Amino acid sequence: MITKRVLVTGGAGFIGSHLCETLLAQGHEVLCVDNFYTGTRSNVGHLLATPNFELMRHDVCLPLYVEVDEIYNLACPASPVHYQFDPVQTTKTSVIGAINMLGLAKRVKAKILQTSTSEVYGDPAVHPQEETYWGNVNPIGPRSCYDEGKRCAETLFFDYRRQHDLGIKVARIFNTYGPRMHPNDGRVVSNFIVQALQGQDITLYGDGNQTRSFCYVDDLVSGLVRLMETGHDVTGPINLGNPGEFTIRQLAETVIDMTGSSSRMVFKALPQDDPKQRKPNLDRAMEVLGWQPTTRLREGLDLTIRYFDRILSSESRKGSG
Ligand code: NAD
Ligand code: UDP
Ligand code: UDP
Repeated sequence: MITKRVLVTGGAGFIGSHLCETLLAQGHEVLCVDNFYTGTRSNVGHLLATPNFELMRHDVCLPLYVEVDEIYNLACPASPVHYQFDPVQTTKTSVIGAINMLGLAKRVKAKILQTSTSEVYGDPAVHPQEETYWGNVNPIGPRSCYDEGKRCAETLFFDYRRQHDLGIKVARIFNTYGPRMHPNDGRVVSNFIVQALQGQDITLYGDGNQTRSFCYVDDLVSGLVRLMETGHDVTGPINLGNPGEFTIRQLAETVIDMTGSSSRMVFKALPQDDPKQRKPNLDRAMEVLGWQPTTRLREGLDLTIRYFDRILSSESRKGSG
């Protein structure tokens, strides 16, 4: 196998850290670039001693001059709590970050993959969502910085393709979960698990009847790598996710059941523009990549619960010690 020099932006985040690990295991050189906005050095701490791994603190809103063969562009806060904290910065990261990474890809003739999102479909009027659906996104709401930033990044990817014939790949990722989500990440899987393990109330937003389809991180990473390995003719966009659709209430019940927690469910206000339903159509992923997820929700939750159990107990030991 040929060793490639691979840049992973947002590599110290949840998905990025797993991707770095996979690429190193395949024998590649990995340059992880992150400004630690939501990611942490400790997510990649176990990789720092690996000779083929390099960690660089850098904001993708600034130009980056490095020599690489492939770029995975993940830099962007992904949880509503974090991307709404500084919405202008979120849009800048998506849009200016995309321009800089595309400019870099153009100069060094690298393949470049964008981690886009199911949020480009907004509160979808078509269900399940297929890639040909143009979406139902509010351009001026609290989620818009993320949704429209990601949509504009897709536009830039396809314009760099049309103008400069870049080797682009666009993955539309659906809700992904697993170890190394931050305990305060704010997304539903980590919130429910942390709440259940700590015996706190499980916070359901709205009536809990909205749906999401949850993909385990290892499945997702294998889909991203497969997409990157495709030839020049394959650009996407391609949905990557798990088609198992659950209501948020079902997720809460499952987490309570699996943790044996005595936590009770409480209902909080539904955030504005919260999508009512979401499920990927994976026909294109299966046809083009021969890929589909294999981890069932309970299996993935089990691994994630074990992870949070471990880090929460070590934090409480530190607290008491
Ligand atoms: P995450 O917040 O854990 O990771 C994002 C990483 O990007 C963090 O390490 C953060 O510090 C870094 N970052 C943010 N702004 C940056 C900047 N300006 N310069 C450099 N680094 C920056 O989130 P994640 O779940 O790992 O998401 C990774 C990517 O996948 C994101 O682009 C996200 O939009 C996309 N995605 C994730 C999901 C999901 O369910 N996890 C779904 C759809 C799309
Ligand atoms: N860029 C970068 N690294 C490079 C090449 C370009 O960060 O190796 C950035 C640079 O900031 C530039 C952007 O990418 O503004 C877009 O580059 P491109 O060549 O497409 O546009 P131009 O430089 O002509 O504006
Ligand atoms: N949600 C919830 N309780 C929480 C966090 C989230 O009920 O503590 C809901 C949220 O309103 C949404 C769903 O769970 O309907 C998924 O939220 P998340 O932030 O994980 O992802 P996204 O909305 O971006 O899909």
